Amino acid sequence: MNTTAKTTEYPAPKIIRSVREMQNLCLALRAQGKRIAFVPTMGWLHDGHLSLLKEGRQRGDVLVLSIFVNPTQFGAGEDFDSYPRDLDRDAALARSTGVDFIFAPVASDMYPRGYATYVNVEGLTEVLCGASRPGHFRGVTTVVSKLFTIVQPHVALFGQKDFQQLAVIRRMTEDMNLPVDVLGMPIVREADGLAMSSRNSYLSPSQRQQALVLSQALASARTLVAAGQRDASVIRDELAARIGEMPEARIDYIQICHQSTLQSQDVVDTDSVLLLAVYVGKTRLIDNGFLFDRTSGRS
Ligand code: AMP
Repeated sequence: MNTTAKTTEYPAPKIIRSVREMQNLCLALRAQGKRIAFVPTMGWLHDGHLSLLKEGRQRGDVLVLSIFVNPTQFGAGEDFDSYPRDLDRDAALARSTGVDFIFAPVASDMYPRGYATYVNVEGLTEVLCGASRPGHFRGVTTVVSKLFTIVQPHVALFGQKDFQQLAVIRRMTEDMNLPVDVLGMPIVREADGLAMSSRNSYLSPSQRQQALVLSQALASARTLVAAGQRDASVIRDELAARIGEMPEARIDYIQICHQSTLQSQDVVDTDSVLLLAVYVGKTRLIDNGFLFDRTSGRS
């Protein structure tokens, strides 16, 4: 990873722990007519996160980053305890992009004793990662709606790396009439194609090499489509065979779906997106991309 902390240009961000303090501050900023741009994360920042922050810097007068490893979106046996955390490191990287405030709450302030309210988006959350990780999106939509209420952003930036999450958050924002513009940003990759992820830090050198099979599978699928293949099951079978050659890879899903409904498709068309979830060792990695050539960019 080529992430480097440059701390010369911007002042250090102010770290805020308290939910009440963050909300009061953001309400005051709005009352002063400031435009708030917001990037929610779980920390252990990499260049993918930094791309969202750089865009956020352009889109708001005030840039807020949240860092919160949200317990409600992890299932039993998942990596909540081992998820990498280092606030000092993240604060230095955040400074390089001009973050004004880092909101880093503790779980007991976000979910105090007696907490009982959850937000659930139906349909979109029942497929793909929602099928493999029951309750995951309920945790995501709950925390994002809480963060929107606390931070009061005008614009919030999310990565297309988590394609389903972006679709779910857009749905929630629209359905609940939340006054936030949700902006989707392109996937940032390592030089060899691996999509950047905080979870890449779990990979051994040999697993890191095997993990390339995700982006390579995406490239193969595009080659097949460019050569005229439209049968989704043929493409999926080819990719499964290819991924299966990796000794430590185990497929969670390979799906070709419509980009907005996330319904699986039998025939590839210009709305088709390939979505992959593959365990490499114990690390679950995801990747995705459109199958037809299209100008990749913000959505
Ligand atoms: P996370 O910290 O994994 O919850 O991610 C926080 C935000 O960063 C989410 O909106 C992700 O989609 C986005 N993100 C994570 N990895 C990447 C990447 N490689 N490229 C672009 N955005 C990313």
